[in-house]
Amino acid sequence: MIKKNTKEENTERVEKSKNPTFQLVRGTKDILPDEQSYFLWIFDQVRAVANSYGFSLIETPIIEKTNLFVRGVGKQTDIVEKEMFSFTDQGNENLTLRPEGTAPVARAYIEHGMVTWPQPVKLWYFGKMLRHERPQAGRLREFHQFGFESLGSDDPMIDAQIIFLSYKIMKQLGLDVSVAINSIGTEECRNQYKKVLVDYFRTKRSELSDEAKKLLTKNPLRILDSKDENLLPIIEQAPQIFDYLSNASREHFLKVMDYLDELDVPVILKPTLVRGLDYYTKTVFEIWSGEEETSRQSALGGGGRYDDLVELLGGRPTPAAGVAVGVERVISLLKEKNITPPSDYQPDIFVAQLGEEAKRKSLLLFEELRSAGIKVAESLSKEGLKSQLEKADKLKVKYAIILGQKEILDGTVMLRDMENGIQEVIDMKKVVVEVKKRLEKQIRVQAEQIKEEKV
Ligand code: AMP
Repeated sequence: MIKKNTKEENTERVEKSKNPTFQLVRGTKDILPDEQSYFLWIFDQVRAVANSYGFSLIETPIIEKTNLFVRGVGKQTDIVEKEMFSFTDQGNENLTLRPEGTAPVARAYIEHGMVTWPQPVKLWYFGKMLRHERPQAGRLREFHQFGFESLGSDDPMIDAQIIFLSYKIMKQLGLDVSVAINSIGTEECRNQYKKVLVDYFRTKRSELSDEAKKLLTKNPLRILDSKDENLLPIIEQAPQIFDYLSNASREHFLKVMDYLDELDVPVILKPTLVRGLDYYTKTVFEIWSGEEETSRQSALGGGGRYDDLVELLGGRPTPAAGVAVGVERVISLLKEKNITPPSDYQPDIFVAQLGEEAKRKSLLLFEELRSAGIKVAESLSKEGLKSQLEKADKLKVKYAIILGQKEILDGTVMLRDMENGIQEVIDMKKVVVEVKKRLEKQIRVQAEQIKEEKV
């Protein structure tokens, strides 16, 4: 006899599940089956766009040498100063859990001699990133980004293409986005501009926050990136980098804008956009959901040109551009807009069985139906017909096959139309043909899809 739990035991169990011994590490998330459909959908969209534009998938390890990020991303950036999960391993090596994807891709470009491949080398990725940020809405310590990187060309068309691809993916997901864009020129343009900017902010010193004062000597451009409301009026009045761009940088930027116009991508010129990372040159951009651009929350993604990065990491001078988009940010926006991924597993038919013999026979029936390309659902763990048919109803199948003691003896099955409840008896040997006939239209579409996939 099965011993029933006492009320106290049940309460204790509920309490334990509310407050289990082991819990998630702060800022991390389990991605449960319901949420997976969003990830898979986004992955599929990115893959399809990447394929059609000739980008190949790359995966880099989740751990890299710490110096890759210190050099590549920049010592004075938030990522390197505050957010890296770094540790020394048993071999005394300083390692870091990947906080971003561009420096590892640039490292791989150098390490695998991609400079000898046809240029530009066009790569995409989709993976986990880790940053020790203060957990808050929209900021996780482990999150996902997808990104495109195009290395080996300084053509402004590359910048435009990278922006266009990210925009296109957002559009395909049903999101209305716009692109904020700026140019921060080359290092020479920036050095000249920095002097002017520092002079300007010094005249406003009394109005600056402590954080901004620190940045004034360390990385003055980053003051422009500040989210501090009190600083906004000062930032708005600051000299603009556009006036300090070299002719070549200005021309590059105007061409990018021209191509984006041609591609019908809505862009907003944002002179204060500098991005948080050090490796950017010339074009920088962020992708914003329609309304958020004004609220200064985090962007959906961002990127730009990074012409100096490969050389900085020890490779040959290699102009490049890329983008990274935050997958969790995209998913929360999709949820906010009530956009759900298309269901990719809609069964055609449900097989219900009654009794041990029917259960055994139904195993073979599943296989026959499945080999014929019919999507079958079942609930072998449920015994009663009522509960099985309830599940069939929930799954929105068109038909249910019922296999009981009597049917086994007669060599038949019962086919129930779930819409109108009409049931008919069908010869067991003909069941596949009969079901197929009824699902013909669906099957034809499916076969076409399979054929396309094989090609
Ligand atoms: P970044 O690499 O900082 O330019 O970030 C690119 C995008 O990744 C951002 O626009 C966010 O959508 C996403 N992202 C960055 N940091 C986080 C984080 N801590 N949690 C979740 N998403 C993030």
